[in-house]
Amino acid sequence: MGSTAASDIKEILLTEAQIASRLAEMAAEIDRDYAGRDVLLVGVLKGAVMVMADLSRALQHPKVTMDWMAVSSYGSGTRSSGVVKIVKDLDADLAGKHVLIVEDIVDSGLTLSWLIKNLRTRGPRSIEVATMLRKPDAAKVEVDVKYVGFDIPNEFVVGYGLDYAEQFRSLPYLGTLQPHVYGG
Ligand code: 5GP
Repeated sequence: MGSTAASDIKEILLTEAQIASRLAEMAAEIDRDYAGRDVLLVGVLKGAVMVMADLSRALQHPKVTMDWMAVSSYGSGTRSSGVVKIVKDLDADLAGKHVLIVEDIVDSGLTLSWLIKNLRTRGPRSIEVATMLRKPDAAKVEVDVKYVGFDIPNEFVVGYGLDYAEQFRSLPYLGTLQPHVYGG
């Protein structure tokens, strides 16, 4: 590497402040919708770590629990195929619970629709989805995403949990990459 992460970023799409302010709005909606009901936040590793940390802390809701799953998608390159393997399963039993899946980004929606189907078989009382980012292709798949932070264009983005070859996850903002990072 040698250079700083910031010099690899072409454009900042969302600043730290924009993300924080939108997450506060989403948290207020979630607080209202889940008033009087326990909610289990389910995060998908690793991308959702930042959203989970910030969204959960913005909630006022008194009864929030959290659990994590890791999945790997068999796809060619960066496209996901919808064929998913569970690498780390949830610890929690979902029976009778109100589950809110917390996602970083929904692109084709294939991973998410597989996940919802899988979790539904475990007898939760409800399943909803909150995602920080949504790309245009997500509209083609029938996945009902209740809470969406930002609709973004069809560009590859990094930062705020999202990686390129495992790098850039720790950036507090969301950006696009300079071509030289891809070897261009
Ligand atoms: P899909 O919705 O296509 O099944 O896949 C979603 C997954 O693809 C995300 O969890 C993320 O890992 C990856 N992904 C999709 N778009 C982007 C992007 O713009 N940047 C990064 N870093 N990952 C992406």
